[in-house]
Amino acid sequence: MGFPMKPAPFTRHTPRTVEEVVSALAEFAPQDGRILAGGQSLVPIMAFRMARPTHLIDINEVEGLDRLAVDGDYLSIGARVRHGAFHKPVIPSVLGQLLSFVCGHIAHYPIRMRGTFCGSLAHADPSSEWCLVAATLGAKLVVKSVRGERIVAVEDFLEGIMSTSLAEDEFLAEARLPLLPADTRFGFYEFSRRAGDFAMAAALVTYRIENGLMVDAHVGIGGAEDRARRIPEAEAVLNGKTPSPELFVAAGEAAADAIEPLEDIQTTAEYRCDLVRAVTRRALERAAA
Ligand SMILES: Cc1cc2nc3c(=O)[nH]c(=O)nc-3n(C[C@H](O)[C@H](O)[C@H](O)COP(=O)(O)OP(=O)(O)OC[C@H]3O[C@@H](n4cnc5c(N)ncnc54)[C@H](O)[C@@H]3O)c2cc1C
Repeated sequence: MGFPMKPAPFTRHTPRTVEEVVSALAEFAPQDGRILAGGQSLVPIMAFRMARPTHLIDINEVEGLDRLAVDGDYLSIGARVRHGAFHKPVIPSVLGQLLSFVCGHIAHYPIRMRGTFCGSLAHADPSSEWCLVAATLGAKLVVKSVRGERIVAVEDFLEGIMSTSLAEDEFLAEARLPLLPADTRFGFYEFSRRAGDFAMAAALVTYRIENGLMVDAHVGIGGAEDRARRIPEAEAVLNGKTPSPELFVAAGEAAADAIEPLEDIQTTAEYRCDLVRAVTRRALERAAA
């Protein structure tokens, strides 16, 4: 038997304002209505009939959701901002460079020109690079519904494999990433079998140096557990120490020991721990280089 390559029938709605988005969600979410953003995850799933939403609320023409701007001490990323917006640094700062470097690891160019930053967070694939960035840097997420607005910390948003704390009638309108101090160092390293594939493990690290010692270390791991998250055990190894190859090895060991590794058809738990050991060390080496 072959696989169907066309989605089941659905009705597409095209709201023009955020108010129209949330009222459409309130009406249609109970009938399995969903947001359509870049469609780079939802449409393939629909084509394989793994999802059969009867209503799609297409946000691609909603005013204002393409906003990408600095507001005070954070970068605001609206729900229509595509991955490709980050190909070049969006702001002349460490955060702009970090986002640009990570962006090149997401899928392939055509997918990056359609898929959205907020769609990646809402989809919550454990291997998503943007979920890793959000988790490592401590993003705040602006969630809207007809009941009002709430700001959710990323650690309370990502709940598991393709699972978030969004209620069915809630819309992720904006992600807020904290700006990074100018002396922040960052390193990102991911492992996948082929370029463009989802990562089997990835690490993002940031830290600063004060008086020769590492401070404010953030070590985030993605693709290895059911969600991207910071690993405090690895951060504790680094903070207050002089950076060195031996210290980076020790941080990799701490990260590998701390995770609850996913197992799947291509990766055993032991192998995933090995990957985490390696990607953490390599991300730290890149940050120090
Ligand atoms: C071949 C291939 C390779 C890929 N490789 C990678 C990769 O390496 N790394 C990676 O991170 N991604 C990868 N992706 C996924 C891609 O990045 C998607 O763009 C992204 O995961 C989802 O964003 P989207 O805007 O396309 O969302 P959509 O596909 O439109 O939506 C995905 C889900 O999120 C919901 N949703 C979307 N936006 C919102 C919102 N604002 N509020 C509430 N719910 C919302 C939708 O209802 C749907 O359930 C790949 C995709 C393909 C097809």
